[in-house]
Amino acid sequence: MADLALVRSSLQKQLDALLKRASEIENVLCDPGDTNSEQNAQDMEDDEPLAVVGDLTRQEIREIRLALKRIDDGTWGTCVSCGKEIAAERLLELPAVAICENCILQPQH
Ligand SMILES: [Zn+2]
Repeated sequence: MADLALVRSSLQKQLDALLKRASEIENVLCDPGDTNSEQNAQDMEDDEPLAVVGDLTRQEIREIRLALKRIDDGTWGTCVSCGKEIAAERLLELPAVAICENCILQPQH
């Protein structure tokens, strides 16, 4: 079993970083004074559009918050879909993950 306190603090750190990033993205998106947006768009050609990055960031924030809640509930580490334990390697890699590999491969409709 993983060290929950350690997992919790690492998730909390990720959450702080994501919240910071989300507010930075929002600042840029809400800035109406930027007349160089065409140039910026070219500079960011290889990147995802900022709005998409913002959506992903918000989604990650939600997932991490849910993971923190599951740690508090004592349900962290079990699949929210099938209720089985999630493989330890998977949890180490993605501590915010909520469903097991089986359920990702076989999405339930
Ligand atoms: Zn599952």
